[in-house]
Amino acid sequence: MANIHMVDVKGQYRRHQSEFDQAILETVRSGAYINGPQVHSFQANLAKYLDVACVIPCGNGTDALQIALMALDLKPGDEVIVPAFTYVATAEVIALLGLTPVMVDVCPTTFNLTKEIVEQAITPKTKAIIPVHLFGQCTDMEPIMNLANAQGIFVIEDNAQAIGSEYTWTDGYVAKSGTMGHIGCTSFYPSKNLGCYGDGGAIFTNDEELGKKLQMIANHGQNKRYYHSRVGVNSRLDAIQAAVLNVKLRQLDSYNKARQTVATYYDEAFRDIEEVKIPQRHPKSTHVFHQYTLQVEPKKREVFQSILKENNIPSMIYYPLPLYKQQAFMHLIPKELYLPNTEQLCDSVVSLPIHTEMTEEQMAYISEVVVHALR
Ligand SMILES: *Cc1c(COP(=O)(O)O)cnc(C)c1O
Repeated sequence: MANIHMVDVKGQYRRHQSEFDQAILETVRSGAYINGPQVHSFQANLAKYLDVACVIPCGNGTDALQIALMALDLKPGDEVIVPAFTYVATAEVIALLGLTPVMVDVCPTTFNLTKEIVEQAITPKTKAIIPVHLFGQCTDMEPIMNLANAQGIFVIEDNAQAIGSEYTWTDGYVAKSGTMGHIGCTSFYPSKNLGCYGDGGAIFTNDEELGKKLQMIANHGQNKRYYHSRVGVNSRLDAIQAAVLNVKLRQLDSYNKARQTVATYYDEAFRDIEEVKIPQRHPKSTHVFHQYTLQVEPKKREVFQSILKENNIPSMIYYPLPLYKQQAFMHLIPKELYLPNTEQLCDSVVSLPIHTEMTEEQMAYISEVVVHALR
């Protein structure tokens, strides 16, 4: 049996090697390394896939979040609600722009924000909410959008982990994650569900005016070359990365399906094991399983991970420390802040290997070792 990895980007490359090689080589030979046809076609292909009006490619997922916040023209001290159980980038850009991150708890079974949690944190200073579709599953967006729209609050979706997942509205409309808020952001970091061979990111919106503004901010605040109407940033998707993404976008649904197959296999294997909680699937969302994350007894987690390791199975803890306990944010957070679900999750989560190249033999082996390690 081949070695087991958390994610197998090399195996995925090999499976469509000639297509990737050709796309990369064509780009190199074309001489169009910045913007150019590869970037524009990816922009159009992704807009079509997501069914969204505007796609603005950029340098990475963190830039995407920063540019999205910049486009809202907020003032220092304005509050942005963000889950405390997420990757640092989501809150980092809030602090970087002199805004105030208001960190809130998450639902203990879906790991995502809920309307109830958000509602309690809204103050007159609240200007934006950033739901993170953590580990590949949509936040329950409809009640959050209703709440935000009623109060004139912007919603920016952090869709770095969930591209391709779908959410069903009460009226039956099925929306792709990242297209439901005022702005959506994603990352093409290599290990993401749609990953390139370096850094990359994108911003989405259905608001054409906002789309122009986002595009302008990402491009030095200029509409016309050498005429700058505001201070922007330089954030671009490389043409070579766009070429890679054009190949991968055609496979995205099958990639996500492969991840779902692994997740369903794990679900079946662990469903009846008392010592572990399997990830819950929200009835309104599909789940693209960027991570497959179990919850185990905190006291047993270290031993559990070491047994996996002895058996050559990697595992990871996403995330070990609530964001409000990170030194970087201490000065921005009320001292007494304690979010029980976030604390509980940080102590109990373990993510198992899940990717598009996993064999049935590997799934069976991992499941067997996990079950033994837990008992
Ligand atoms: C990966 C990730 C980001 C940042 O993306 P980069 O491309 O690494 O900058 C932001 N938010 C979440 C939830 C992520 O998983």
